Amino acid sequence: LSDRLTETFRNLRTKGKLTPADVDGTVREIRRALLDADVALTVVKDFTAKVRERALSDEVNRALNPAQQVVQIVNEELIAILGGEQRRLQFAKNPPTVIMLAGLQGSGKTTFAGKLAKQLEKDGHTPLLIAADLQRPNAVNQLQVVAEQAGAAIYAPEPGNGVGDPVRVARDGVEHARRAQHDTVIIDTAGRLGVDAELMKQAADIRTATDPDEVLFVIDAMIGQDAVNTAKAFQDGVDFTGVVLSKLDGDARGGAALSVASVTGRPIIFASTGEGLDDLEPFHPDRMASRILDLGDILTLIEQAQQAFDEDEARKVAEKLATEQFTLEDFLEQMQQMRKMGSMKKMLGMLPGMGQMKQQLDDFDEREIDRTEAIIRSMTPAERRNTKLLNGSRRLRIANGAGMTVTDVNQLVQRFEQAAKMMKTVARGGVPNIPGMGSM
Ligand code: GDP
Ligand code: MG
Repeated sequence: LSDRLTETFRNLRTKGKLTPADVDGTVREIRRALLDADVALTVVKDFTAKVRERALSDEVNRALNPAQQVVQIVNEELIAILGGEQRRLQFAKNPPTVIMLAGLQGSGKTTFAGKLAKQLEKDGHTPLLIAADLQRPNAVNQLQVVAEQAGAAIYAPEPGNGVGDPVRVARDGVEHARRAQHDTVIIDTAGRLGVDAELMKQAADIRTATDPDEVLFVIDAMIGQDAVNTAKAFQDGVDFTGVVLSKLDGDARGGAALSVASVTGRPIIFASTGEGLDDLEPFHPDRMASRILDLGDILTLIEQAQQAFDEDEARKVAEKLATEQFTLEDFLEQMQQMRKMGSMKKMLGMLPGMGQMKQQLDDFDEREIDRTEAIIRSMTPAERRNTKLLNGSRRLRIANGAGMTVTDVNQLVQRFEQAAKMMKTVARGGVPNIPGMGSM
């Protein structure tokens, strides 16, 4: 994560509301981070426009913590573009399932063919690899080696038979698979170093001839800004049903994933992460989102932001107490706040001088919050602001309204008064002596 982005989120975290200037600053840094991750410029523009619009909407201004909300929006939008849920390989109703690979030379097609064959074998399938790359002298050989490593069968033209026709090899291969009862077929094809009309046509012809269930476009994650043009060329020239992102073990940040998914709308199905045949993973949109924006760091920042927020809240409460305005409404708000944070201990830990107290709350019962809430909700607003209004008959009515006993109500009021006293001591800067907190 760029230091600047870190800084931006740090600045955001203490703000209650986001101004358009805050949002613009943040969006600028997100743009920079995406460009750093090699996401294509057009994609970055669309993406940041969407984030900006959502960040300025009510959804964020009403949020408990706007900075956190913005991070969430960024994360959500990234995941949405990357395909939302993970997509799996689609198998044909009537085998064999035909999977064709396409992509530039060196993108990792042949290696992926071996990886996929191995995985299919492991899952109990009977894959057949078809060597339809007859462009390079060594290509068939390479696939043979890979097939052997994967323990998978291979269909290849006879060696020394002159230049074969890859379209025919592919078609014959699928025919062979049908006869030999292979339930899956992986067609390896040729690619050139750059987008090439002739090879694109060859791939399109192989597609037409074999009518694959999946056409997987294999792209090197290190390709950078060229990702968009390459992906578009293959979409127009061959079209594909899914994407394989290769060489993710390198230090590519994965910007290509966002670019390709964004401009083609096709799901990324696999992540190829090494030269070994076991280095294959299903693609996880959420993990890739984290990788692109280094969201691990951002999540840490959110936690810090959350803490800052807690401290702010604690300070507000303390200030209120100092001026003796702490009411049952505040008490309830605090309780709800604590529930939201999932931990009362954490909240108390934020209060100065109360770190040691946390232990006393180890056996804190969360249902207690429910009971407290029920009682306070049964009071009138005036009573919540001034407990002196709570006479005997009022306490009985409240108890009935909340489905509790008068003793429960009395205990709550007592606890509230103790808490108020304790908080007041904290507000004055003292270390409180806390009666009754252990039972809270
Ligand atoms: P093809 O021309 O598209 O068939 O690409 P290849 O499968 O021959 O791969 C080209 C080079 O990239 C080879 O040296 C592979 O070992 C290497 N390669 C392929 N996939 C990966 C990967 O996921 N990670 C790494 N580090 N190298 C890979
Ligand atoms: Mg190859």
